[in-house]
Amino acid sequence: MPIQTNKRQRTCISCGATREKGGLFRIVRPAEGPVAFDGSGRRSGRGAYVCSGACLATARKTRKLERALRCKVTDEDYDRVLRELALAEASEQNEE
Ligand SMILES: [Zn+2]
Repeated sequence: MPIQTNKRQRTCISCGATREKGGLFRIVRPAEGPVAFDGSGRRSGRGAYVCSGACLATARKTRKLERALRCKVTDEDYDRVLRELALAEASEQNEE
């Protein structure tokens, strides 16, 4: 049974960890154009969340991202999103 809270929880598509929005990285399927990393978390389109690059890599193997976004995700898309997510991860660690 899903737990309803006032906080907008998001779930990592790979490991199932839940965090408040902002604690996870968003990947978006825009209305037009390829699947992209959404650094702002505000792009319109169907979104999926992962907590780390490692989780995205796992989601790639298990095709969970395709299922979450309901579209095909090419190797090119994965490589680009993984690269951008890694950069975002690195800059977040620098802020700590
Ligand atoms: Zn995860």
